[in-house]
Amino acid sequence: MKKYIPIIGLEVHIELSTYSKMFCGCNSDHFGKKANTLVCPVCLGLPGALPFANREAILSTIKFGLAFGCKINNLSKFDRKHYFYPDLPKGYQISQYDEPLCISGEFNFQKTKTKIRIRRVHLEEDTAKLQHQVVEGKKVTLVDFNRSGVPLMELVTEPDFRKAEDVVLFLKEVQIVARYLAISNADMEKGSMRLEANISLKSEELKMNNEKLPNYKVELKNINSFRFLKKAIDSEIERQSKLLSMGEKVIQETRGFNELTGKTFSQRVKEEAQDYRYFPEPDIPAIRFSEDEIKELKLKLTQLPRLVRERLVSEYGLRSDYVEIFVADKDRVRYFEEAVGLGRSAEVTSSVIAELMINKNMDKAFPEPGGFVKKIIELTKVKYASADEVEKAVAQTLTENPKAVLDYQNGKGKVIGYLIGKVQKELKGKGEIKKINQLLKERMSK
Ligand code: ZN
Ligand code: MN
Repeated sequence: MKKYIPIIGLEVHIELSTYSKMFCGCNSDHFGKKANTLVCPVCLGLPGALPFANREAILSTIKFGLAFGCKINNLSKFDRKHYFYPDLPKGYQISQYDEPLCISGEFNFQKTKTKIRIRRVHLEEDTAKLQHQVVEGKKVTLVDFNRSGVPLMELVTEPDFRKAEDVVLFLKEVQIVARYLAISNADMEKGSMRLEANISLKSEELKMNNEKLPNYKVELKNINSFRFLKKAIDSEIERQSKLLSMGEKVIQETRGFNELTGKTFSQRVKEEAQDYRYFPEPDIPAIRFSEDEIKELKLKLTQLPRLVRERLVSEYGLRSDYVEIFVADKDRVRYFEEAVGLGRSAEVTSSVIAELMINKNMDKAFPEPGGFVKKIIELTKVKYASADEVEKAVAQTLTENPKAVLDYQNGKGKVIGYLIGKVQKELKGKGEIKKINQLLKERMSK
């Protein structure tokens, strides 16, 4: 088989956890709610209903864009994207076309120094949800409008990924950032984060021409876990490689992933690019931002995973695999830092705290860091040798090492380290250095 270079781009949709929906006052917390209870004329798409934009959703999107180094458009607007589907009764989705809120961001992989360009981050509304059911023996499709109009943020990358592992790493970062900014739970099982990948292959011969992309792309859709997405991308790369090696063409289409066979399957063939007939949404005025407003938002972004990573390394000296485990969960980071603060006076080190949290899950057993640190102090105390044992070991060491004692008394202070070592050996390492040191000095000064 010939060698090909995978060209992969991503589209990620994230539902924002604002209190109300994107263009009306309905509650946006739709997950698990009784069907069609969170609706009004606007999100039902009734004619004549007037939408108004959700400020919180706009700010959330800008924060997210800033976190990925995007430029914020000072002037942005909403547009109508026309298409027909039963979950979209208006016949168009309010989205953003040529002036999205955020453009030209980037993400850098620290280890490999590769850069992923982020084309845009825009805001739109979610659609209703179709439910395929059997009612009275008949197959029916019902529509639940609770999700209709929930703010949906969409991130689009340039086709800069070359392997599935990087895609997953990037998406995990997207998820963590959304959670750190508290703009979404980005939960894939609940559909709050949805992934789409465009994949095509480029032959090695074309490698020299960096700009030129393959003339087709296959879209992978409806995949709801990182693990399956990785498998789907890998299997898609293999499928396309085989086709191209045999001199066949790859059809431009949308494919899903069968979790049982581990293979992708065709869902829909797109003959040509759809024409959505975008035009500016006439019911919502354009959105303007001053540089100062954007600057102010930027200053508020103190809780970003990137910054937390730096802090965990520079302030606590954590190893990189531990840093990643902590960063994935911002509540755990807070717990860790609180525990370190509390443990400081009792000389409980940050590495001990990290070990016990990661290897023994002790933070799960103690909901409060205070209780956890108390327990560590207790545990470490039990481990220490008793005062009697220390006394005995010190006495024995001094008797067995008369020369060292003499050296010490003649001003060779350094010899104390050697003696502490001897005492610790006697105590099998269970002595407290501070106490041994003190006791040795006392005994030798007599
Ligand atoms: Zn509504
Ligand atoms: Mn979209």
